[in-house]
Amino acid sequence: MDLAIQGKWALVCAASKGLGKGCAQALVREGVHVVITARGEEALEKTAAELRQLNPAVQVRTVAGDIGQAEARAAALAACPHIDILVNNAGGPPPGDFRDWDRDTWLAALDLNMLTPIELMKKVIGPMAERGFGRIINITSMSVKAPIDILGLSNGARSGLTGFVAGLSRSAEFASRNVTINNMLPGMFDTDRLQKTLMEWASKAGQPLEQVAQARRRASPAHRFGTAEEFGSVCAFLCSAHASYINGQNILLDGGAYPGTF
Ligand code: NAP
Repeated sequence: MDLAIQGKWALVCAASKGLGKGCAQALVREGVHVVITARGEEALEKTAAELRQLNPAVQVRTVAGDIGQAEARAAALAACPHIDILVNNAGGPPPGDFRDWDRDTWLAALDLNMLTPIELMKKVIGPMAERGFGRIINITSMSVKAPIDILGLSNGARSGLTGFVAGLSRSAEFASRNVTINNMLPGMFDTDRLQKTLMEWASKAGQPLEQVAQARRRASPAHRFGTAEEFGSVCAFLCSAHASYINGQNILLDGGAYPGTF
């Protein structure tokens, strides 16, 4: 299927690895020009080279920096001639016991995983509405739907973003002008972050890594982790011309692990 977004410009945040990279790859395959960001320059440039190879017809630009910082956001926005597609992403907050978290810990999580995407949406949504096309994707987590006890910072900050987006996406000022905002909720995807989490679980349980990984795979009816490639394909479809009537949704990608009917 031709997604009919060839020649559009996308800003994909936190995209040198993992799910963000999967989204950038899928968009580039569709002929979308991309600006990708990450803090580490080396991995970012390596990914940019791969993307250029994937589709030499598109422009691939990089902006190194922490997307939680205003200067990095300004640089990322300035690197795009205009933004048709915004994929909000960043690292997740650390796990822990909420009794150990002080106000600054909470503010850091809220800043990166709630206020940063809101700041970026604030900048792009008006021009998107004026041009009559806009697609905004927020990568959140399955923890929004099925909270994980040790990920209280993620549960809280991402739920705040989800509540805000539920309202903004339904504003006729934007929705009537073909601007959609949807959240993608990853379950377990095979990325660097998941590998680190598995290693932590294995060391806490005193079990071999592969044993812990296998148990987690089997916890999903699919008996496997998701791949960044399949995550990216869903992202590209949600950003497509065909997805203009999908708005304000929380799309769970977990191989059927969530046990509820709805
Ligand atoms: P990943 O494999 O560790 O990749 C994270 C990417 O984001 C890297 O390119 C990293 O590059 C970049 N990044 C991290 N913090 C950044 C920042 N402050 N500013 C700019 N770039 C930043 O992680 P992932 O698995 O793709 O996860 C992406 C998001 O999905 C995270 O928020 C994670 O919590 C969430 N999630 C993932 C899963 C999963 O199973 N993978 C499940 C639920 C939720 P640098 O480090 O060089 O900046």
